[in-house]
Amino acid sequence: MVNGTGLSAENQGFLKKRHKLMIGGAWVDALSGKMFPVFNPANGQEIAQVAEAQAEDVDRAVAAARKAFESGPWPSMKPVERSKLIWRLADSLEAHADELAQLESIDNGKPFKDARNVDLAFCCELLRYMAGWCTKLNGESIPVSIPGDWHAYTMREPVGVVGQIVPWNFPLLMAVWKIAPALAAGCTIILKPAEQTPMSVLRLGEIVQDVGFPDGVLNILTGDGMTGAALAAHHDVDKIAFTGSTEVGRLIVKAAAGNLKKVSLELGGKSPVIVFPDADMDVTISGTASGIFFNSGQCCTAGSRMLVHKKVFDKLMTGLADEASKYKIGPGLDPSSRIGPLVSQEQLDRVTGFMDAGKRDGAEVVTGGERWGNEGYFVKPTIFANTSPDMSVVKEEIFGPVACAMPFDDDDLARIAAQANNTPYGLGASIWTRDIGVAHKLARKIKAGTVWINAHLPNDVALPFGGYKQSGWGREMGAEAIELYTEVKAVAANL
Ligand code: NAD
Repeated sequence: MVNGTGLSAENQGFLKKRHKLMIGGAWVDALSGKMFPVFNPANGQEIAQVAEAQAEDVDRAVAAARKAFESGPWPSMKPVERSKLIWRLADSLEAHADELAQLESIDNGKPFKDARNVDLAFCCELLRYMAGWCTKLNGESIPVSIPGDWHAYTMREPVGVVGQIVPWNFPLLMAVWKIAPALAAGCTIILKPAEQTPMSVLRLGEIVQDVGFPDGVLNILTGDGMTGAALAAHHDVDKIAFTGSTEVGRLIVKAAAGNLKKVSLELGGKSPVIVFPDADMDVTISGTASGIFFNSGQCCTAGSRMLVHKKVFDKLMTGLADEASKYKIGPGLDPSSRIGPLVSQEQLDRVTGFMDAGKRDGAEVVTGGERWGNEGYFVKPTIFANTSPDMSVVKEEIFGPVACAMPFDDDDLARIAAQANNTPYGLGASIWTRDIGVAHKLARKIKAGTVWINAHLPNDVALPFGGYKQSGWGREMGAEAIELYTEVKAVAANL
């Protein structure tokens, strides 16, 4: 069944397993016995069969997480002990990094070296950063003016049982973004990977067990949107965290309304890239190219709307076309590949559909603009010029390696910012200039959770990440992530 070249014997064995649900520390079949197939996007072939959790399995997993939260050792464990376990998980992921990166590559399609050097490296760093928070969940002592003699203070407590639903673009990394702060806070978790890419998260479950986390602290349910919907609606889940489309984000909010569980959302984007004429063009060309082509454009902060000063427009377009030709397309497991396939047939149809719509609407193809090959879900890195704000390629999140460029001829920062902000999204933005005054003044006017200057995409474990407007609620990473997974209790004692 496994046709990927160079797959390690370990991974071949792993893929052949009967993949079950991880509930309360045990691997169990879905009660219905249902399974679903998982495919290699480089060739469309099936690589594994995975259990499909239904609502009754969600009930079981929530009950296990509740038990681990209320009567298990996890939330009451000494902070330093919780920290050590999370750190040990990072060490173990590091020890298995090649194996996990290979699994990620065959399941999601991304180049092995990106999976290894970006996804896995970031997972380990984030776990270690969050492990440090276990010992720093402080409260405050607060002077109050209530008549009498009072001692008042706050304490930070874990929010409880959390459901976490993640997408397919960075399958393991998105899972770790979610579980790391939740574990640090002392929460227990039901994690649902995307149906397209569950394999690395299933392997993560095995590693979590090997490392010695108490049963029920992390539960894993594979399944599709129905599984996610049952989790989001469940009355015994205290918080739901979601990364994915804005459309599903809205459904999550509605589902969460039943018991008013806490919600955090990291949703879509249509991030502007603003290039001024004084920018260092070599840096700008390579940086804006990786801002849209990295991970085949399947990044929520992909720099997909380029606003380029007229003076450097042609130079940037020529440079990007040249840069695109250096992105060797191929299967993730081929070491020479720099850009892998899209994740699924559905995404291939979606992205090529947008490319066709762009061409129909009169956009000029600077480079790419079509599918690559006839096996697997590859598309060519694409830049459209001659685009305008009313075109679907400019308005909608494509989630492929497709950027639209529009020239501007203006030095009024308010008007430039208005163009950049002309989207319902607000996740990322980048500004390319040598003028630090322009860069920082414009950064203040941009409505986005992250603004890069002379870069696009890099994240850091200590930098809060999330969206303005319809790009989400809350911030992941940094100290803000801990706030998502804790409640603050005020205690007021009349002495
Ligand atoms: P999606 O939002 O449907 O799926 C993301 C996750 O949500 C998956 O785990 C899925 O099983 C789950 N899900 C689906 N329906 C659900 C529901 N009703 N309740 C609870 N969970 C549910 O994303 P998709 O359909 O795989 O991709 C469609 C588009 O979404 C993409 O083209 C892209 O534009 C966007 N997207 C954005 C991100 C991001 O990081 N912001 C990630 C993936 C996809």
